[in-house]
Amino acid sequence: MNNLISPEKLKLELLNEFKKRPIIGSFLFSIMSEARIVCLGPLTEDLFKESMVPFPYCRKSIQDFDFLRSLSSRDMCFVEAHGQTELWRLARATSAQIIHVSDKKFDSTLSDFTVTPGELKLMLAELKSLFRKYRSDFKSHWIRGSFSQRALFMDRDGVVNVDYGYLSSPEQIKLISGVADLIKKAVKAKFKIFFVTNQSGVARGYFSREMADRINADIRQQLAFEGAFVDEVVTAFYHDGSENLEGAIEPSRRKPRPGMLIELIEKYRIDVSSSIMIGDSARDLQAAALAGVRSLYLVSSGINQLENSPPTGKPSKFEAELQKWTDWSLLSQALDQSQFQTIDSFEEVKLS
Ligand SMILES: [Mg+2]
Repeated sequence: MNNLISPEKLKLELLNEFKKRPIIGSFLFSIMSEARIVCLGPLTEDLFKESMVPFPYCRKSIQDFDFLRSLSSRDMCFVEAHGQTELWRLARATSAQIIHVSDKKFDSTLSDFTVTPGELKLMLAELKSLFRKYRSDFKSHWIRGSFSQRALFMDRDGVVNVDYGYLSSPEQIKLISGVADLIKKAVKAKFKIFFVTNQSGVARGYFSREMADRINADIRQQLAFEGAFVDEVVTAFYHDGSENLEGAIEPSRRKPRPGMLIELIEKYRIDVSSSIMIGDSARDLQAAALAGVRSLYLVSSGINQLENSPPTGKPSKFEAELQKWTDWSLLSQALDQSQFQTIDSFEEVKLS
């Protein structure tokens, strides 16, 4: 039995909703055109979470001008600004629709809509029932396009190439066997392929940023010769003791923090729930877990982190690495909640 209504009929029905409640209509059209819903404020974010309306959204700071500039007029910003000045700054920074969430009703030509938190709550409930009603139609016609791209995230050293510790020249590149085949299979299964790599050797002064870029380019080229194409390589040059080196700031990008993955997820609209991370260390899996990826593989090649604890009671390298991050509660939670599998070869990675 197929209960789906045609896209034309769905559009008509939505247009009717649009007439009744412009803000809801606007919302629906944004979703249909794969827009991003952005919450600029903790209250709004909580309301979205509570409502469990199945929209992709992300929370950003009102100061994050680069991100705000990247939004288009289809995207929607829910903002809890306190006054005209903040709204004015936001309106200048972005071409997204601005929905001002405020208890105080003041007329503002700077926002497209103003709602109170109570109204927003009602609106989300309405949207939720509307989505329930049309769920299968949305899924089949539009929603699939929204954050539906799967990704295979891979650490570089110890996963793609043999890790000799601070790889510092292209001559040292040795691809791990099976990696090109895995990438080819993943591309065929419509995954985007990303390498997400910490290269603190730059911040430590062991090699230059240009050299790190060149090694990345060489690895990509060697893989391309085998018909395995990588969409993007992102690199964190930072290490925790290197605040001042140019290009080495941004601690949030260094794994186990999830910054690099989040960049890719937003840029390529990645559906984290169907994406995969392959790493050879605890921090790779933690970064992915924090970004929402739930399919985590730990390769036992590389630095043999999974050796059993020696009789002295000393923890294995893997456990020791986990220990290092337990002081950041978010990180220790991230791996507890997720399951990861250890694999001896890439053939064990499930792409379906
Ligand atoms: Mg590694």
